[in-house]
Amino acid sequence: MAPDPSPDNQLPLDFKLIFNELKKGQFAKRPEFMEFLNAIGRQDLADTITDQTPWLYLTQEIYREKEFGIMGGGGLGVLAGDMTRVAEKIGLPLIVITPFYSEKIHQKLSDFHHDYTAEKVVPSEFGYTKIGSIEISTLAYSSVPLEVHVKLRNSMLLVTLYEPNIGAVYSGESGSDHRLYHEIVTGFGGYKVIKQLGINPPLIQMNEACTVFGVIARLDDLVSSGMEFYTALEQVRQSTIYTNHTLLQAAEGEFHYSQFQSMVFPNIKNKSVIDWLSWQFTIDSKVKLSTLAIELSGKRNGVSILHSNISSENYRNRDGNPVKFDAVTNGISDFWIQPRMLDQYYEIGAIDKFGLPTENYAEAIEKLDISTIRAIKDSGRAFMNETLANKMNQYGRPLRIAEGEKVFDIKRRLVSYKRAKMIFKDPDRLLEIIKKHNAHIIISGKPHSGDIEMVGDLFNILTMVADNPILKDRIHYIQNYDEEIGQALAIGGDCAINVPIVGQEACGTSWMKDLANLKLLISTTDGGVADIQPPVYLEVSGNFYDQEAEMLYQRIEEACNILDNDELLREQIIKQLKAYLPILSGSRMIRDYLNLRFQ
Ligand SMILES: *Cc1c(COP(=O)(O)O)cnc(C)c1O
Repeated sequence: MAPDPSPDNQLPLDFKLIFNELKKGQFAKRPEFMEFLNAIGRQDLADTITDQTPWLYLTQEIYREKEFGIMGGGGLGVLAGDMTRVAEKIGLPLIVITPFYSEKIHQKLSDFHHDYTAEKVVPSEFGYTKIGSIEISTLAYSSVPLEVHVKLRNSMLLVTLYEPNIGAVYSGESGSDHRLYHEIVTGFGGYKVIKQLGINPPLIQMNEACTVFGVIARLDDLVSSGMEFYTALEQVRQSTIYTNHTLLQAAEGEFHYSQFQSMVFPNIKNKSVIDWLSWQFTIDSKVKLSTLAIELSGKRNGVSILHSNISSENYRNRDGNPVKFDAVTNGISDFWIQPRMLDQYYEIGAIDKFGLPTENYAEAIEKLDISTIRAIKDSGRAFMNETLANKMNQYGRPLRIAEGEKVFDIKRRLVSYKRAKMIFKDPDRLLEIIKKHNAHIIISGKPHSGDIEMVGDLFNILTMVADNPILKDRIHYIQNYDEEIGQALAIGGDCAINVPIVGQEACGTSWMKDLANLKLLISTTDGGVADIQPPVYLEVSGNFYDQEAEMLYQRIEEACNILDNDELLREQIIKQLKAYLPILSGSRMIRDYLNLRFQ
């Protein structure tokens, strides 16, 4: 491991010079993006989104661990990672700002008890180019130096901010000073980089309200340039999209005025901006970042149709009035799709070279025959086994699923609303089904270390399984859930189980990865799954928990029967893909965001 870099006390390097050096020959011409704009009927944006005026994407997490050395916390980071992948593919000029966290947290079970270990990481291990340092300020420290490490990949520039003690993603409580520190690093630190690069973004996207400080920095900068405050505010609003992933404003963290005084205001130059911010606080001197994000954005969106409707009901602006959230359902990148399957999509003409569904995609999907489907599923299973050979199950051993055995998977952050434990409602019933149908259940997902109830549930389930000679060989828990495990299960499983409480999943993207790889889907009608009505998947519904659990068992049996029957399997897969292929396309999501901002 490389030693921690020493703080750089020299004058900031010439960002612009280095930036120009970096992009020499790469940014010069971007015919593929012009072609993409043509494909989505937005040639009018050719001079709007350019290398000098890219889309600016602010995020507290990004999940592309192998390439970027940054491990996200969940779906929000996966979405940011996929934004970068799709941008690279279609040549979209995109600048992404995020902290480079100095620690990655790994889960390890010992006797089914949870342990989390922190691994120290530095940007130099991951091939970043260090382009200089910038400073942010707090009341206690007039300057906090941050190193700027970047990666340029095709049209996408990833800008990370780092100091050796920055810690892990989402460490500290949501309203803590530590969390606020991470947020001002991205916001004020990130904006300084943008400013020094001389970039004037026509679109600023906040991937959640916690990135709002970047937009505040922009407002402050416009006022500093001589613009009247309300003109500047209007201009900022016009170019800003607030992408919300949370459902309840009440559940969002808030900060106290004194925390702003010590950490936020020292980074702001203009009194008018500080006065305006102060005005946003409630009578008990608190503010939610979602309130600020609402006030600073001209467009807001939820990440599925259902979610945007719920957010539109739940969220209020500073004056207590409702605000509208449009729907831009999340999409996924090619990373999650088995390459052989991706080739099929191109070959049958279901998607174009940008990953957009073709005009005749529904007819094209009909061309998938059962022998192709079976062959792709077989190679997917081999890939899954290869990955799981390097992972650990609950007993600390690798897992291998034999040929001909069925795999159901539940892969998700273990939070209570996702209800991963529903299949254990009636263990005898579960046992009977998996024995009869030669099936396995693979579960992977980390509980939050502070979620005592979930940690306890998992312990009880794993103990119950270990004590039963049949379940012991059929129920597997893969430790340390990450994107590699997520990808392997998406590609190699037979059927995904996705049963969040209806109304609580913002979108979810795991099920998209599953559908794209020809798996069956058992799901409640929630998140992005609910974009399509009536259901074309194996729906779980009911008026109360026991009813839903009963339906889940029925659906598992039904899925087994489908998997055993060529005709039924092909029919079900085709039905699912016809409905969801346009939704799961990541470039479709990019198109929707461009259309939201530039109407
Ligand atoms: C896809 C993915 C997610 C998103 O999961 P959802 O539960 O569908 O929101 C989270 N974490 C990892 C590691 C993933 O691969």
